[in-house]
Amino acid sequence: MHELSITRNIVATVVEHARGRKVDGVTLKVGDLAGIELQALRFCFDICAEGTCLEGAELHIEQIPGRGRCLECDERVPLEQPIAICPCDKRARMIIEAGEELLIHSMEVH
Ligand SMILES: [Zn+2]
Repeated sequence: MHELSITRNIVATVVEHARGRKVDGVTLKVGDLAGIELQALRFCFDICAEGTCLEGAELHIEQIPGRGRCLECDERVPLEQPIAICPCDKRARMIIEAGEELLIHSMEVH
């Protein structure tokens, strides 16, 4: 489960920034195309947070919708999959502009 290693990194980063203070909450921004299962992420978060200054902290997740840009017509298209075909129908190539993020947006320190 790759959510476990992702969560370990998140917790380690937050612990480092908290410098011993208690953390009440963490807000993550997770792109819809990042391939991360949010339920698994929450589950792993509780496990990884145990015994650290994040124990009992609330995990807030803001989802970022996927968005691609067509290299042919420059149209911006909402994406639910990391692969998309533009409505301009030229078998156009698209680049992903948003939705692959995984960011620690903020943390609430006690
Ligand atoms: Zn297009």
